[in-house]
Amino acid sequence: MRYDVIIVGSGPSGTSTALNLARICPGIAERTLVLERDSHPRHKLCGGGCVPQVDMCLERLGLDYLEVPHVDVDWAHVQFRGRGFPLRFGKGYSFRVVRRNEFDAWLADHVRRRGIEIKEETRVTKLHRSDDGVEIETNRGTFSARVVVGADGTSGVVRKLVPEGAKTCTVARLVELITPAVPASAPATMAADDALLDFAFMPAGVQGYAWSFPTKIAGERMRNWGVYDSRLVPRKSAGSLRPVVAEWMQQAGYRLDDYHLEGHPIRLFEAGASFAAPHVVLVGDAAGVDATFGEGISPALAYGEIAARAIDDAFRRGDFSFAGYRSAVLKSPVGVALRRRTASARALNRFYYPWVQKLLWWRMGPLARWYIKKVLFNWGEPDEPLPAERPSVPVPAPHAPTAPVASSKTTSR
Ligand SMILES: Cc1cc2nc3c(=O)[nH]c(=O)nc-3n(C[C@H](O)[C@H](O)[C@H](O)COP(=O)(O)OP(=O)(O)OC[C@H]3O[C@@H](n4cnc5c(N)ncnc54)[C@H](O)[C@@H]3O)c2cc1C
Repeated sequence: MRYDVIIVGSGPSGTSTALNLARICPGIAERTLVLERDSHPRHKLCGGGCVPQVDMCLERLGLDYLEVPHVDVDWAHVQFRGRGFPLRFGKGYSFRVVRRNEFDAWLADHVRRRGIEIKEETRVTKLHRSDDGVEIETNRGTFSARVVVGADGTSGVVRKLVPEGAKTCTVARLVELITPAVPASAPATMAADDALLDFAFMPAGVQGYAWSFPTKIAGERMRNWGVYDSRLVPRKSAGSLRPVVAEWMQQAGYRLDDYHLEGHPIRLFEAGASFAAPHVVLVGDAAGVDATFGEGISPALAYGEIAARAIDDAFRRGDFSFAGYRSAVLKSPVGVALRRRTASARALNRFYYPWVQKLLWWRMGPLARWYIKKVLFNWGEPDEPLPAERPSVPVPAPHAPTAPVASSKTTSR
């Protein structure tokens, strides 16, 4: 079967591309197909933290994701070993937490309502260039398209058609697990609606932070725990993340061994990387997302609009080289923010020493908060005053890892 556009993957970057095609160029959207290897609602490892830019991207599509079950995080405490500052990105809340199986299924439903077919249980196995497009082999037959969109995540196959570019992207590792909101054998140690992001493990080799987010599963309040390790800067690695998570959870009274830890990578944004090739564009994790916080949902949605505009332009001009896509990404508000986040993550991880981290998170809170909000997360931001200060973090101060965080056998990445 031949299509104008085939989108491989129906996570937020793929569905956003489809929805933006329907909004910007409905004629092309009518001849668009989405291929998805799983079927919605499908499991997707993710903290589900949605900053206000997610609202903004969805509003542009006429969608309100408050229809999806979510938790409004009251304050996010950004800290080093339990001391830091509270942060709110939104008006009256910090960020929202969704479950990705529900959020992605809701987006996919809206794609279908716009008349775009999603073929589920259809795994793309190989792609070949043809004279005027791309041939796509799947477990359910071969398809062809003038344009293929790689929305198939970090380990996707579409990227193989795109040369690496001047700079290779780093692939970060993340691990995550879900627990009840309160540990079985200990009292609650943190405010139910607050989130924690703690850079305590940086000196031990983790190039990022440990998190704890409130979440809701089947109506029940739970907590999502995880560690983000960007691996952006060449230095001694923390080895396995399992002992790091164990240490992080133990501070709040949980035992890692009682839960199931899973891992998944994300590709980090590099301005010198390639994002397109003739007849091919990449979006979301396939292209590269936030290196400082590993925030990928809002960039994935934003890529979708940039890709849809580039595809519309390609059909109008009959030029499928996508030579201008890279510069469109780099000049876009999200592209500017992602460049800053990669540069900031490099700087932060080069200065991982405890005294620098203490200075940054303990002493320079107002400046760090301003920088995060106004420099890293400023794209499309509704200009609103900073929230009033709130007293310090409502948790026992996590301490530095007691045992050296050495390699050990683990199922996580
Ligand atoms: C543990 C963890 C926690 C995270 N927490 C957050 C967070 O709190 N907030 C945030 O903003 N971001 C977070 N992220 C990042 C975020 O999850 C990603 O950046 C985001 O999902 C990218 O969306 P995407 O659509 O590009 O890719 P994905 O969501 O990965 O979607 C890719 C889709 O392609 C499909 N696919 C893959 N290969 C094929 C194939 N061969 N054929 C057909 N279909 C295929 C997959 O089934 C999938 O549906 C987290 C990531 C991880 C791993």
